[in-house]
Amino acid sequence: MTKIRNIKNIGIIGGGQLGMFLCKSAKKINKRVYVFSDQENCSAKKFCNDFFFGDFNDLESIKKFSERVDIITVETENIPKETLKTIDNLGKLTPSFRSIVIAQNRLKEKNFLNSLNGIKTTDYMAINNFKDLEKAYILFNKSIIIKSCEFGYDGKNQYKVNSKNLADFKKFSLKNFIAEKVVEYKKEISVISCIDKFNNVYSFPPVENEHANNILVKTKFPALISEEVNNKAINFSQTISKELSIIGVLAVEMFVLYNNDILINEIAPRPHNSGHWTMDGCEFSQFDNVIFSISGQKLKKPKILSEGSMRNIIGDEYKNKDEIKKNYKFYDYYKESIKPKRKMGHYTILKKLSS
Ligand code: ADP
Ligand code: MG
Repeated sequence: MTKIRNIKNIGIIGGGQLGMFLCKSAKKINKRVYVFSDQENCSAKKFCNDFFFGDFNDLESIKKFSERVDIITVETENIPKETLKTIDNLGKLTPSFRSIVIAQNRLKEKNFLNSLNGIKTTDYMAINNFKDLEKAYILFNKSIIIKSCEFGYDGKNQYKVNSKNLADFKKFSLKNFIAEKVVEYKKEISVISCIDKFNNVYSFPPVENEHANNILVKTKFPALISEEVNNKAINFSQTISKELSIIGVLAVEMFVLYNNDILINEIAPRPHNSGHWTMDGCEFSQFDNVIFSISGQKLKKPKILSEGSMRNIIGDEYKNKDEIKKNYKFYDYYKESIKPKRKMGHYTILKKLSS
């Protein structure tokens, strides 16, 4: 069990944009931040007090990193289990080992979610080969998405299967895949809840997400949903975070169906792309609240200052950054190079609320 008290030095595993924004929040309250990344020129490098470049599987380097800090959090759940266990054994891992291990495997995640009272996901089936795929395809009415159980993000390692491409998957290695029934949804929303060690829980309002090619392109805040759906979504998010004993934040992605039922898509025990709006739309952001809670301070219930939308800048869109900068609040992720489907930055369009 991780003891959180008098935390001065915070370690972050992963140095992407989420790590970078965590560094900025930590510095605002004079914490020292150390980043361990497997990418030498990552977004967070310039914003931390010390940078460790290494392999996530190199347990000796991970131990050395752990000695330098009081507590360690993650900016991604895609960290090897042995590495997480090593940090946990030193009493320094937050959020809990269990929460990260569940969130990093789609099958474990869905089994866990469906074990909770009142919480449901889409129908799913573990698959390991083409025969299993054919079975799932028939079972779920010829409308499925297959995904690798681990190490998939931003739509990577996931494919929609239809009558035209089904046979193509004969050549695929489908070991540790999951087949999901395609959900016909009205909206995709997400809720981020923050929890501190004093059992304070605060949820940011649900937001509405739009994806293109399975990558988030736009988040509208707040979501335009009924009060009933709003309350149900917040309730689900808080139930799941309590079940996982989260200290920090938990993001829950959800599908709202046409009958207003909610299915959970996936969870992440870390800051989430759909929460970037909180840096401009709230008095305290999702990143601020992670830092407050993991360093043993009370959460701040943030005042909502604006409504509006957040847009991701993906791949070549980054070439228009000067134009975007002129008109909107722009965030650069300082990526080494432009790659298709790579998140390069984001910007926020704000409509201030009258106080
Ligand atoms: P990632 O880890 O890459 O975010 P997700 O499982 O969230 O993976 O899938 C990305 C997006 O693809 C979702 O936000 C949604 O738009 C779409 N999607 C994924 N699974 C389903 C499904 N079962 N039914 C309908 N759409 C889906
Ligand atoms: Mg997702």
